[in-house]
Amino acid sequence: MKFAIVAEHFEKLEETTKRLEMFEILSQLFKKTPHSDIDKLIYICQERIKPAYEGIEIGMAERMLEKAIARATGTDIKKVKELYKKKGDLGLVAEALSGKFKNKLIKPKELTLAEVYDGFLKTAKVSGVGAVDQKISIIAGLLSRANPKEAKYIARFVIGRLRLGIGDPTIMDSLSKAKIGDRGLREKIERAYNLCSDLGFVAKTLFEKGEKALDKFKVTPGKPIRMALAERLPSSKDIIKKIGKCAVEAKYDGFRLQCHKVGNKVFLFSRNLENMTHMFPEIVSEVKKLRQKNIIFEGEALAYNDATGELYPFQVTITRKRKYEIEKIAEELPLRMFVFDLLYVNGKDFTPEKYITRRKKLESIFKKGEILQPSAMIVTDDPKEMEKFFEQEVSAGLEGVMAKRLDAPYSAGARNYNWIKLKRSYRGELSDTIDVVIVGYLKGRGMRAKFGIGAILVAVYDKKEDVFKTIAKVGSGFSEKQWVELREMLDKIAIKHRPARVDSEIKPDVWVEPKYVITVRADEITRSPLHTAGKTEKEMGYALRFPRAVEFIRFDKTPEDANTVNEIKKMYKMQFEH
Ligand code: AMP
Repeated sequence: MKFAIVAEHFEKLEETTKRLEMFEILSQLFKKTPHSDIDKLIYICQERIKPAYEGIEIGMAERMLEKAIARATGTDIKKVKELYKKKGDLGLVAEALSGKFKNKLIKPKELTLAEVYDGFLKTAKVSGVGAVDQKISIIAGLLSRANPKEAKYIARFVIGRLRLGIGDPTIMDSLSKAKIGDRGLREKIERAYNLCSDLGFVAKTLFEKGEKALDKFKVTPGKPIRMALAERLPSSKDIIKKIGKCAVEAKYDGFRLQCHKVGNKVFLFSRNLENMTHMFPEIVSEVKKLRQKNIIFEGEALAYNDATGELYPFQVTITRKRKYEIEKIAEELPLRMFVFDLLYVNGKDFTPEKYITRRKKLESIFKKGEILQPSAMIVTDDPKEMEKFFEQEVSAGLEGVMAKRLDAPYSAGARNYNWIKLKRSYRGELSDTIDVVIVGYLKGRGMRAKFGIGAILVAVYDKKEDVFKTIAKVGSGFSEKQWVELREMLDKIAIKHRPARVDSEIKPDVWVEPKYVITVRADEITRSPLHTAGKTEKEMGYALRFPRAVEFIRFDKTPEDANTVNEIKKMYKMQFEH
């Protein structure tokens, strides 16, 4: 397929302000895509080159792209930089310059989707001496053959700024529509995706081998399984009422890791399925020591004080997340891992098994007191006993507890009541923080005017509609330095109009692609006519009172991982139940 077709559809996607239209445009594009190329297109739509877990990055900085544009279009680099300053978007620079150059040339052969994708892949794979120059020349090669529209999207893609805001749910719906004319296959597609975390591969299987092949998807060691998530309830009584006799585990506050051992190879995946293997060498060597040839399990890794055996809070553990001097920090701040689920052992998929069966097997492999040890756990149907365990864990500095339904399977990629969290609550505040997506910013007056950003407009996720709905303006919690940094980051993903997947009655000064998640704390959830979260014809929306950011960008979460409108509704109700 010609890449021009992709670029045309991307332009339509960029222009639309309606989620439904986005779904239509995308499904038309998928329908036109040859089966052999559908995976490539899916990765491009996801703004990556391969599934996240392969950790393949294109590694192009803005400066390199400027050089590639200059080289491809025969323009002086100074002029490219000037234009960039004027337009603020290297995609637009590439678009403007590439048109001019082409007239001077013999018409080059039109680019295909496969050629563009292969160019990206090749760019990502070059390394070592001379890599920078090679990368520039591959991209320049593509740009020199591109028409203006194609050049715009190639340039944006290579620096990670496609700004289409598509999201996996929209891709899955559109794939289904492309294949059978409606959303009927969404569930099957999602199930397969949950098991292998590779949407390109799922799409290709569906297109090449049909619906039946999706049903045959299985857990594969080496390919991350999308992680199960927890619901929340306000008290131990509510939990017992909901799921009866259950397991109650300590809730540790560190990094969630999914560990895969495939022969003598080990992979560690983060919550958003990125490959973190190189970051935690001491965990890798422990996993290697396991007797099982192939195994997949999950746990929470935390830093601990070797001398006292005490676990450190998250703020300390997070310092292990770095790219350099890994060995040194591993020695200073060793990790311990509390294993809480077992998904696969030597050819047997444990995900459909009951919790209690998985736990039994887990306890036969991992032993207390070792680096990889089972999470602390009791089984009870007595709210008082759960409360006691909760108090004990909280006073030991942990976050709270996780209750788990004894007969539930491991629900990959799903948030449901198979797991229920009960966290410490803070007086006078909502007991939990809320994860929201930034959809725009307001410039602000007074003190803040000097940063050009006074508040951000944030939204929660309406899963049913696949749309982000506003819930608050957040103007506090960040340091001055963070505000400046935030503004720079947001300007890079700014868009001219309201993004198609955003529903808002407030118009910020600058709209941005829903991309960054932040965690906020608020005093209370209230009803408000200003916000669209939970708003219906008859009812007002929900809003956060006194929201403040508690952390900078949560790079471990995608926009769809933000709290949902349904969760906000539940939290709103819980406020009256205390
Ligand atoms: P939250 O991030 O507040 O939604 O809580 C869910 C997270 O708690 C999981 O993603 C894990 O990282 C973490 N966690 C800590 N201890 C456990 C446990 N025993 N079982 C499951 N998840 C746990």
